[in-house]
Amino acid sequence: MALASVVIAGGGMAGFTAAKSLRAKGFAGKLTIVDPEGIPYDRPPLSKDYLLGHRDAEQIQLIDAGWFADQDIEVIESKVVDLDPEAPAVTLADGTVLHADKVVLATGGTARRLPIPGGQLPTVLELRTKQDADHLRQVLQPGIRLAIIGAGLIGAEVASSALSFGASVTLIDPVDPPLVPAVGEVLARRLHQMHVANGVKLVTGIPTEISVDASGQHAITLADGSSILADVVLVGIGIVADTALAAASGLDTDNGILVDESQRTSHPNVYAIGDTARTRLSDGTLLRRAEHWEHAMNTGETVAAALLEAQLPTHGASWFWSDRHGVHVEGVGSMLGDGTLVTRELDGIPVAAFRVTDEGLLAGCAAIDGGLLVRAARRIIDKNKPVNVEQLADPTIDLKKLAR
Ligand SMILES: Cc1cc2nc3c(=O)[nH]c(=O)nc-3n(C[C@H](O)[C@H](O)[C@H](O)COP(=O)(O)OP(=O)(O)OC[C@H]3O[C@@H](n4cnc5c(N)ncnc54)[C@H](O)[C@@H]3O)c2cc1C
Repeated sequence: MALASVVIAGGGMAGFTAAKSLRAKGFAGKLTIVDPEGIPYDRPPLSKDYLLGHRDAEQIQLIDAGWFADQDIEVIESKVVDLDPEAPAVTLADGTVLHADKVVLATGGTARRLPIPGGQLPTVLELRTKQDADHLRQVLQPGIRLAIIGAGLIGAEVASSALSFGASVTLIDPVDPPLVPAVGEVLARRLHQMHVANGVKLVTGIPTEISVDASGQHAITLADGSSILADVVLVGIGIVADTALAAASGLDTDNGILVDESQRTSHPNVYAIGDTARTRLSDGTLLRRAEHWEHAMNTGETVAAALLEAQLPTHGASWFWSDRHGVHVEGVGSMLGDGTLVTRELDGIPVAAFRVTDEGLLAGCAAIDGGLLVRAARRIIDKNKPVNVEQLADPTIDLKKLAR
């Protein structure tokens, strides 16, 4: 029977892309997005341009609000509170039941809270939604002491943005340097040192407790007994995939809603995409769950093809970017694993890093202000082209030529 209706729970990058791709592929049936946040918007600017006030709420919408009416896509500002995979149907917060031929779960995740005393305090902030960014912007004032726990992508970006507000920033992470799995040791160290060069205080330590006194001053106690005082505390330690709906309705979950390569969950009527989904290969291997913008977009495209029983698109090696202290960081593939790590330097400064497998294939690449290089590296990875370690390290070699 031809597909006549689809309900998408969650209108982030993944849910929005699924709807857009369904229409682009000619799906003319009933299409509904349910999201308590309403019209889909982009999250990466929340720690960058939006936080800084360089773009407003309208400018970070994924598309003009009018587009949804033009495309006959209904956006319902509500939360899905129950899922019945058999029907299939979803129940909204006000009790409305929506039936559809297929349901797509694109519910993303929530910011991970610190499992320590004080980690749940309402004054300990997180950054996942526009509302979180608005609140953070309000409290960032000149001279304010901001402590950020977690120096990964979001923590580092907020540290950089907060300096523009005149905040005094302390960045706490148990690892020195953080981000090695994403960009390799050498670039991770250069990026971490940039914080110091720009006036951020770095602390390596494990927080064990957060407390707040009557005046609103927070104290973060570290495992070595030291403590850091701050007016504002932000935790940026990743997300917890939103699996509650799926788990409650009996779908397989394991740090994500488990899906096959067509984004189908363990129930044939339900699909999952974006940050909330985790791929389980046919041999049972669980892939690492991705928490990146492009992955959300790619899985949105894949689910549209799967629902329409069209050929699944192929996507290249996974890619991410991040911006801090005026530099642009990109990474592709995986820098984590065996093989040889190669660094490319320019005037003695590391600008790119590569991981080459023992078979001589490029497995991962990261670069600072090297978007074109990363794009070329991605082509090399996708084509499985053997690489030469000396050429990768040589800044005079144009990677584009190696990718041909
Ligand atoms: C501050 C910040 C900066 C980032 N910067 C970068 C970056 O520089 N580069 C990069 O690659 N990635 C970045 N990311 C990650 C990227 O934004 C995410 O990977 C991407 O947004 C995931 O999209 P998604 O649609 O899967 O989930 P989300 O964007 O989280 O969307 C999920 C949606 O589901 C809705 N929802 C949840 N529960 C329900 C429910 N029960 N019913 C209905 N709707 C529900 C939520 O309201 C939300 O709108 C950043 C993320 C953040 C928060």
